[in-house]
Amino acid sequence: MSTTTIIEQEDTYTSGVYGKRLLAIVRGQGAILWDAEGREYIDCAAGHGVANIGHGRSEIAAALAAQAQRLITCPEIVYNDVRARLLERLVQVTPEGLSHFFLCNSGTEAVEGALKFARLATGRTGIVATLRGFHGRTMGALSATWEKHYREPFAPLIPDVSHIRYNDLTAAEAAITEHTAAVIIELVQAEGGVHIGQQAYVQGLAALCHERGALLIIDEVQTGFGRTGTLFACEQYGVQPDILCLAKSIAGGVPMGAIGLGARVMESGHISKGSHGTTFGGNPLACAAALATLDIFEQEDLPARAAALGAHALKRLQALQSPVIREVRGLGLLLGIELKKRVQPYLEALIERGVLALPAGPNVLRLLPPLVITEAQLDRALDIVAEVLGATPNPERETQSVAETHEESSSPTAEVALLQRMLTIPSLSTHEGALAHFMVEQARQMGLHAYVDEVGNFVASTHAEITDQQPVVLLGHMDTVPGNIPVRLEDGILYGRGAVDAKGPLAAFVCATARVARQGGHSRPVVVVGAVEEEAATSRGARGVIKRYQPSACIIGEPSGSQAVTIGYKGRLLLDGCVTQQSSHSAGPLQRSNEIAAAFWGRVRRHADEWNQEHAGKSSFAALLPALLTINSEQDGLAERTSFTISYRLPPNLDIANLRTQLQRWALEDDVHLTFSGEEVAYQTTRAIPLARAFISAIRATGEQPTFKYKTGTSDMNVVGPHWGQNMVAYGPGDSSLDHTPQEHIRVAEYTHAIDVLECVLNTI
Ligand SMILES: *Cc1c(COP(=O)(O)O)cnc(C)c1O
Repeated sequence: MSTTTIIEQEDTYTSGVYGKRLLAIVRGQGAILWDAEGREYIDCAAGHGVANIGHGRSEIAAALAAQAQRLITCPEIVYNDVRARLLERLVQVTPEGLSHFFLCNSGTEAVEGALKFARLATGRTGIVATLRGFHGRTMGALSATWEKHYREPFAPLIPDVSHIRYNDLTAAEAAITEHTAAVIIELVQAEGGVHIGQQAYVQGLAALCHERGALLIIDEVQTGFGRTGTLFACEQYGVQPDILCLAKSIAGGVPMGAIGLGARVMESGHISKGSHGTTFGGNPLACAAALATLDIFEQEDLPARAAALGAHALKRLQALQSPVIREVRGLGLLLGIELKKRVQPYLEALIERGVLALPAGPNVLRLLPPLVITEAQLDRALDIVAEVLGATPNPERETQSVAETHEESSSPTAEVALLQRMLTIPSLSTHEGALAHFMVEQARQMGLHAYVDEVGNFVASTHAEITDQQPVVLLGHMDTVPGNIPVRLEDGILYGRGAVDAKGPLAAFVCATARVARQGGHSRPVVVVGAVEEEAATSRGARGVIKRYQPSACIIGEPSGSQAVTIGYKGRLLLDGCVTQQSSHSAGPLQRSNEIAAAFWGRVRRHADEWNQEHAGKSSFAALLPALLTINSEQDGLAERTSFTISYRLPPNLDIANLRTQLQRWALEDDVHLTFSGEEVAYQTTRAIPLARAFISAIRATGEQPTFKYKTGTSDMNVVGPHWGQNMVAYGPGDSSLDHTPQEHIRVAEYTHAIDVLECVLNTI
C-alpha cells in the first residue's frame, strides 16, 4: 500500500483525536524505521519510549510465537507459570522495598491503579501532583496530569487533586497535609518539557511524605527500563517509592503496565480481594514478552549504553551555537532541547531529512531514541538536528560540519572514493539492499534527498518533492553479475565487479547531480535512480519507476565510454523449447527428439538469414540474431526428451508478434512445445534529440570528439523507452567490452571525465 492510500484510509475511519505526521511507517529494525515508500528514518521517538530495546527484535517475536501457541489468555482468577516468573523477576529488578506487583496493560492504567491503591492504603483522598506533570489520559490519571487542554474539556475530574511547582520543596511542604493520600511525580518530567528532578527535591519529598503519612508514587512509565542510564531512575536518587508505575518499554513493545507496591501499601491491611482488577492484566503473552525484554536488558547492559550515549549526545547538543536554542537538558537518552520558537516546524524539517523526533510541550524538541541506537546513527541524527536548528557546531568538535562534508564530497578524490566503496559492497541481482542503503547515506551527505523506494531502488534527487514538473531522470542500476574481483586502485585504474557495468555510471550520476545541486538554481529537478534487477529478466527496478515519472529527459546508466553516447539497444526474445518422444531403438522409424530440436534450430537460422538479406543489409544493429544458448537431451527408458533455449537479439523494425506466430507454427508442425519469455522491444532514438545535442556540445566542451553507438544487448532503456518517449540516451564511463568479464576495470580519468560531461549536460538541458 502506498503512503497516500494508507493515510486516506486511516483518515477516513479513525477517531481524529491524533495529530499525525504524514508518514506511514511499515517496518523497523534497531533504531531505523522505514515508511511505505521504503524511505529510511533514524528513530528518535522510539514509539514514545516504548522501543527501548529497538525494533524488529527476533527474541521478542520468538517469545511471543512460542507463548501464543501455548496459552494467550489467562485472567487472574487462576495462576499461571509465566506470570509467576515475571512477578518474581520484577520484584528482583526494581528498587528495594517494592515487594509486590499488580499487572495491567498501559501507563495510564498503572497510574490509575496507583491512585486507587494509595487511597485504599491510607484511607485519605488527597493527591498532590506537579505542574507540567504527565500521568496519562484516563479520568483518574488525567486528574493528576497538569496540561490544561488535556484536562479542561473533561472537567469535573476527581476531586482533591492539587498541582504544585516541580523542584520546589516549600510548595510541597505547604501542600502535603494529613488529608494527602499520595504525592505523584516523575523523576524527569518527560512530556512536560524534559525537566529533571533535583536530588534534594526528590529526597526531601520522600521524607516529607513519610513524615506526614502520605505515599510517594513515582511514575517511571517513561524513565523506566534504562532510559535515563540506570534500569530505573529511582536508583540515581536513592529513594524508595511506596508505589512505582511502569509501562511503555516493559514488554519490548507489547502493551503492558505494572504497579510496584511497597510495605506501606501491602501492610496497610486495606488491599482486599476484589478491590481492583483487569481482564487482560498479567496475560501470559505480555508476560512472556516482558521476560524476554528483561533478558535483553541484562545481556546487552542497555542502561549503561544509555548513560554513555546520553552523555555523549548531551555534550554535543550543549556545544551547539544556535540562535533558536534556549537550553539543552537530559538524563541518559531522554534529551530535551528547549527552543525560543515553536517546535513543530523543526520536527517536520527533521522528518524531511530522515529523523523522527518528538515534542515535549510547545517549544521543546525531545529525542528519545531506542537505547540500541549505534553511535554513528546517533551522531548522524545529531548532525541533522544541528543542521535543522541552524547551529554552528562547536569548533572543538573534530567531526566535520555538514557544510564541510559537502565540500569534501565534491572533491575528485571523494568522487573516486565513492565508486571505490561502492565496488566493495556486493550487489547481485535481488541482493542490492546493502548497496541501496549505503547509497542513500552517501547521497544525503552529498546534499541530495535520498531514500530506498518500495521495490528497493535507490533514489536521490535535487528536490525534496518531485511534483508536477517533469524531472530529468538518470536511470542507472545497482546489480552486477556474479564473480568477485578484488577491489584495487592501481596506476589510475580502479578494478572491481561492477566498475563498468552498474557502479561506474551510477556513481557518476550521483556525483554530477550533487554538483548541480550544490550550485543551486537548477529549477528542473534531477532524479537519480539506482535500479534493482537490471541484470535479471524481471527488470523489476525499472518497471517500478515507469509510472512514477514522466521525464523531460532520461539518461540510462550504461557504459558507452565517456566520449560516446548510446542511442539504441536491440530488443530481445527468449524461447524455451521441449520435444518429447517415446524411446525407440536407434534403427527404428521414429525421429529422435534431439534431431527434431536441431531441425527446429535450423529453421530459425534460415529464417533469420533470409530476413536479414531482405531487411538488414550489413548493419548488425538492424539484423535479427538468434543464438542457441543451451540444448540438452535425456531419457529414462520410456521417453526421451530434448530441451533447448534460443535467445533472439531483435532489430528495431521487427514485428515481434509476427515472429512469435511464425515460431509457434513451426513448433506445431514439428511437435515442439514452446514457451516465450524475456521479451523486450528494441529501442532507438536519433542524434537530433535535445539530449543527444547537449551531449555533443558537453563532450566537445571538454576537448573531445563525441561518437554515437548502437548496442546489440539490452538494458533498462528497452524497458522505459517505450513509455518515456524519445529524449533518451544511454551514457556512462567505461569500456563495455569489459562488462561481465573477470578483467572489469575503469580508468579514473575516464570516470571523472564522465562526471564533467554529465554536469555540463545537466546544466544545459
Ligand atoms: C506515557 C506516559 C503515561 C501514560 O502511558 P499510556 O500507556 O500512554 O497510557 C503515564 N506517565 C508517564 C510519565 C508517561 O510518559
